[in-house]
Amino acid sequence: MQTTDRQPDACAECLARNGPAPDTVWLVTDPIRITPIGGLGEVGRNMTVVEHDGFRIVIDCGIGFPHGDDRGLGVDIFLPDVRVMRGKPVDAVLITHAHDDHVAALAHLIRSGTPIGRIISLPFSIGMIEAKLSEHDLPVPPLVTVAPGDLIEIGSITAEFIRVAHSIPDPCAIALTTKIGTIVLTGDYKLDATGQDVRRQVDRKRLTAIGDAGVLAMLGDSTNAQLPGRTPSEATTIEPLNDVIDEVSGRIVLTSFSSQIDRIDHAMRAADRTHRQVMLLGRSMRRNVKIAERLHELEPTHMPGLSRRDIGGVKSLVICTGSQAEEFAVLGRASRGEHPDLHIGNGDTVVYASRPVPGNEGPVEEMQNMLRMRGARVVTHHDAAIHVSGHARSDEIAEMIRMLRPNVVIPMHGEEAMLRAQAELAIENGVHAHNVHVGQNGDVLEVDASGIRLVDQVDSMAIPAGSDGLPLGAGEPG
Ligand SMILES: [Zn+2]
Repeated sequence: MQTTDRQPDACAECLARNGPAPDTVWLVTDPIRITPIGGLGEVGRNMTVVEHDGFRIVIDCGIGFPHGDDRGLGVDIFLPDVRVMRGKPVDAVLITHAHDDHVAALAHLIRSGTPIGRIISLPFSIGMIEAKLSEHDLPVPPLVTVAPGDLIEIGSITAEFIRVAHSIPDPCAIALTTKIGTIVLTGDYKLDATGQDVRRQVDRKRLTAIGDAGVLAMLGDSTNAQLPGRTPSEATTIEPLNDVIDEVSGRIVLTSFSSQIDRIDHAMRAADRTHRQVMLLGRSMRRNVKIAERLHELEPTHMPGLSRRDIGGVKSLVICTGSQAEEFAVLGRASRGEHPDLHIGNGDTVVYASRPVPGNEGPVEEMQNMLRMRGARVVTHHDAAIHVSGHARSDEIAEMIRMLRPNVVIPMHGEEAMLRAQAELAIENGVHAHNVHVGQNGDVLEVDASGIRLVDQVDSMAIPAGSDGLPLGAGEPG
């Protein structure tokens, strides 16, 4: 219903800065309804529902991983609680990037019976989603590949993907423009200043233009909000990685996240330069590199591939999974002497070109020590600057807020302290304190030109699941 009433709880200061002038009489329309299902008060399980004008969009649909005391309890992953979706179709699922904590619960959402109109993202993300969903016997909704700058109509809502930098190809922020204004979800990002090519560069011009046109709300990545300064560029890892590879004469076994395609690319180039034969070990490593090669995100090595028979060869670079000490990944098995092909011993150098995710430090250190006990030399980010984070630190978050100049800020993606750190940054950068919402999963929020309101709360628990992605115990939530 529309009336010509003044918004009842409008803040004159915010309106003067961000919205219509305080004496403007406007039409009251439906607010934008935002429900974070996961990713608040935790790292992982990112999923947000946005509803407006009868249309329904889901942004990201990821899993969480057990850490700390959760490990070893028979739970492999945590799923978002999709019961809140029951019976209501989703017009589109939009994916900011293809990390598991943003996409790996899509099978769970489809299995729950929620009708999905389309899944939309940039090429690498769609390639990864297609590969991951093909592992399940499920009906796959139409997968739609778009380019940054395309305007995608989802009912009366227009979606746009904007390039940001992160630690995987094709990360993006998403702007949703409705009849009452625009909201921006940053996804995971950093504002890397030195992208290797145009596909790695943050589109500051477009983010600023969206800010100039007016942003009702920003839902932003909080992961590194507590850290001062800026996260170093991925480009800063190239030289240290080259140095490490150059100085080793024996075999090198390198591990990194299998979606960290740029770092894998840098390692493969270094192998080419030093005439090392490359072998990829681990299912997700081989799958992701194949997708990246197909989409020209990675230059295939010019050296002949290494067969499993020759894996013991001295002049080789084995790039493998297991950087998080996952029990059945390659490096974990090799550290226990259980891998059938990769036998690590004296003369081997293991390059740990990654970092344990928060809470995972203990198992990773244990794995590294087991590798040392087998005779390997282990090189980590403590020895050489071979890893940088994919998440914005406080100066970059402040820059993002200054580009978008949102009326409302909803810190996302992080534990409570991380969310609060972003909230403080928002206030320091001009957002009114009552328009900053540090919330919980399941908060039902309404946003319009007058600000933000918590109007309801829905159940949103972490659903424990096995490695097959199926919930443990009572079975699948409906
Ligand atoms: Zn990510």
